[in-house]
Amino acid sequence: MIKAPQQQVPGVFHRRVGDIIVTAISDGFLDGGLEVLRNISEEEARRILADNFRPARRTAVNAFLIYSAGRLALIETGSGNYLLPTAGKVLANIRAAGVDPGSIEAVLLTHMHPDHSAGLTDVTTGKRNYPNAELVMHENEPAHWFDDAKMAKGTDREKKLYFQAGRDQVTPYKDRWRLFKAEGEVFPGITAIPRQGHTPGHTTYMISSGKEQLLIWGDTVHVPEVQTARPEVCMDFDTDKDMAASSRRKVFDMAATDRLLVTGMHLHFPGFAHLVRDGAGYRLIPAAWEQAL
Ligand SMILES: [Zn+2]
Repeated sequence: MIKAPQQQVPGVFHRRVGDIIVTAISDGFLDGGLEVLRNISEEEARRILADNFRPARRTAVNAFLIYSAGRLALIETGSGNYLLPTAGKVLANIRAAGVDPGSIEAVLLTHMHPDHSAGLTDVTTGKRNYPNAELVMHENEPAHWFDDAKMAKGTDREKKLYFQAGRDQVTPYKDRWRLFKAEGEVFPGITAIPRQGHTPGHTTYMISSGKEQLLIWGDTVHVPEVQTARPEVCMDFDTDKDMAASSRRKVFDMAATDRLLVTGMHLHFPGFAHLVRDGAGYRLIPAAWEQAL
């Protein structure tokens, strides 16, 4: 009697970009409802998902290790234990990839939301999960999430999950923050390109080596099937919805025009794809499996 597998293999996938190796690390996924979408009816969103063989809104959560110039960086840390038990697997999957978290020199954040920054710190001990890493992010992120007046205006959920959780997570790194304010290289081969709107300091990262590039577009989309087809569709938790939509259009236009390889924090794992124009919107074409590095 053959014993069938009881659980999934670790969510780890390597990909080469010139001389850089990018390792996609799955945090798992978050299932949720459609009531958080804006600029589209729930019925229409459900129809687009059904057309794409998605029974519901499933949000993949990804992070990326970047091996560059003999150094190691991590973009995002997943959701720790703040959200659902289907997520929070980044640290375990980093270890499954054979990486000691102590060897990571820099953690780069696209923004301070709990599915991105909540894996920074072990909340039971208050200790950094990445003890030797500096924390790199846009200066608008801590400025916004540490603003008590802005926090006071939030709903209870926003106060707890966005403001307080973010503060708890980044504070243990406070003596090693490195904040940037404009486009520029933040780690060898990694250029920060701010695309504000989803949050005040939301940032995409371009990985470049030789002639090859990969755009890690952060939270340019949360529901890829819906928002590539309808770039105007926003999320209730975008801090500035109009700016989020206009940033999304800029990123989409650049990705399609320059035929960029892209990935993101909420593309279905491992998330590497190309974006092509399709009618009034766009469509993602998943990248092929790679065997050799
Ligand atoms: Zn997110």
